[in-house]
Parts: sequence; structure tokens; C-alpha cells
Amino acid sequence: MHLINADLHSHSHVSDGTLSPEALAERAHAQGVELWSLTDHDEVGGQQRARDAALALGMDYLTGTEISVSFAGETVHIVGLGFDADDRALQAGLAATRSGRRERARQMAAGLAQAGVEGAYEGALRFVGNPDLISRTHFARFLVESGVCPDTHSVFRRYLTAGNPGFVPHQWAGLGEAVRWIRQAGGVAVIAHPARYRFTPTEEYALITEFIAHGGQGMEVITGSHSAAEQIRYTDTALEFGLLASRGSDFHSPEESRTDLGSLPDLPGRLQPVWSALLHRIHRA
Ligand code: AMP
Ligand code: MN
Ligand code: MN
Ligand code: MN
Repeated sequence: MHLINADLHSHSHVSDGTLSPEALAERAHAQGVELWSLTDHDEVGGQQRARDAALALGMDYLTGTEISVSFAGETVHIVGLGFDADDRALQAGLAATRSGRRERARQMAAGLAQAGVEGAYEGALRFVGNPDLISRTHFARFLVESGVCPDTHSVFRRYLTAGNPGFVPHQWAGLGEAVRWIRQAGGVAVIAHPARYRFTPTEEYALITEFIAHGGQGMEVITGSHSAAEQIRYTDTALEFGLLASRGSDFHSPEESRTDLGSLPDLPGRLQPVWSALLHRIHRA
């Protein structure tokens, strides 16, 4: 059986990717992606362009976003797929989630200045495609450009994660809110890259059971963030909790991303693909 090449997690310069929605669509298509979703952080401003570009290339499309959520003292990402991008409550929720980013960025720059890195706010802004969406990734690009660190990964390790000078704790959306915005706009909510959170087994169990209680239905099993062992582990988790399974590269940039669009293992055959529950929501080429 041919499983379609679905890539349901990627970023354009409308959030912290480096490519335009159109360039990303072209790259996805060239990589053999058959069903694509642009999932910019806390933002649906690129959805129309992504969908138009995908359909013009003959590639099916699902609307997408990746919502920042605070849960048990960690930031958790919830991907929404197949929703109505014009839904007012979803748009208002995303706008509220984005709204603290500028002030957070100023505080990050103040922390970096104390550590001897001057001008980081203005520097990061030069990499920003959407002024409402200044993120740690943009700071990382500035610190690499100015020679402070050799690559973005080391910037995160030395400056932008908890306990380091550029890190500012932030309150994002609530788990229940994020799931509700997605569901009430007709979409399916998915826990993004579950292996990335530093949760104890008890906290992870709480995340999954609360997510399901709020109406969440899916989990990323095959993602650019998971090792082979993590793919196996979260295959079992998805089966245990009866969750739909998603697959996505989390591609951000040709220079920075190790996993290219569509270049992932297939979903294990025992899993129910998330798109099987979204057939009526797919924009067909
Ligand atoms: P923010 O929403 O501003 O907190 O930025 C989060 C983004 O930073 C994520 O979506 C990733 O793109 C990026 N990121 C987080 N951790 C790392 C890391 N260790 N290395 C590279 N990029 C990272
Ligand atoms: Mn990102
Ligand atoms: Mn993420
Ligand atoms: Mn992502």
C-alpha cells in the first residue's frame, strides 16, 4: 500500500522560517510531498498564500498552525490542522498568544546586553519577516551572524534556554484554550514533537490525558525532532491513548534544518493517520 507523503509541520518567514510560503510550497513539491501544511507559530497570516501555491503546484493542502502553550512549567507546542483559517475566535486567540512577544524580546535583549551582547533586539528584528512574531530563532540568527556562536543550536544552548542570559520565562496560551480554538474552527489538535519536552512520566501522562479531556485527538509520531527510538516509543503511546498520528519535518530553513520537507519515514502501519480524520477538510489540487 502506498502511504501518501504527508508533511504536516513546517515554517515560513511569516513565523521563524526563512522561506516565503510560495518558496516553501515549491520546495515541498520538489521533495515529493503530496499533502502539505504550513504551520507557522501562533499565526495563520500565511495560510491563503500557502494554499494557493500548493494547489497551483498540484499538491493537496491542509490549513495549519503551531500554538505555543504553557503546561506544567514548560512550553508545549500544539499543532492545529484542517481548521477554518477565517475563524474569528481562533484568530483572536492567536493574536492574544502573539501579543507578549515584543516585550519578551526586549527583555531578552536586556539579558543578552548584560552578558556582553549589544544591540540584539535591533539585530534580531532584521531577521524578522512578521513584526508580530519575533522569536528566539531570530535572536539565534543574529548571534550567529555577529560571530558570537558558530550555529543556532549553540546559541540556544548557551544563551536562549532556561538558566541562560537571553532566556525570559513567558506565559503562553492554556492547553484547553488552544485545543478549543482549533476544534471550534473545525480542525484537529495534535501534540507536536512529544519527545522534546523535559517531562517526567507523570507530567507527560498529565499532558496527554488533559489534552484528550479538552478534545485533543492527535500526536506527532514521525517528526524531524524524533530519533528512531523515540518514533517507536511514541508509536506505542499513540496506540495506547487511541490518538491519531501525524508526520511532519518541522522544516525551518535550508541552512538550519537537518530534516528536509517530506524526507521522513512513513507512519507505522498500525497507526491511524491524522489526515484520515480530515479528508473533508483537505483542499484538493
Ligand atoms: P520561541 O517561540 O520564540 O520560544 O522560539 C521557539 C523556536 O525556537 C522553536 O520553534 C524552534 O524553531 C527554535 N528552537 C528551540 N530550541 C532550539 C534549539 N535547541 N536549536 C535550534 N532551534 C531551537
Ligand atoms: Mn520554530
Ligand atoms: Mn515546535
Ligand atoms: Mn515547529
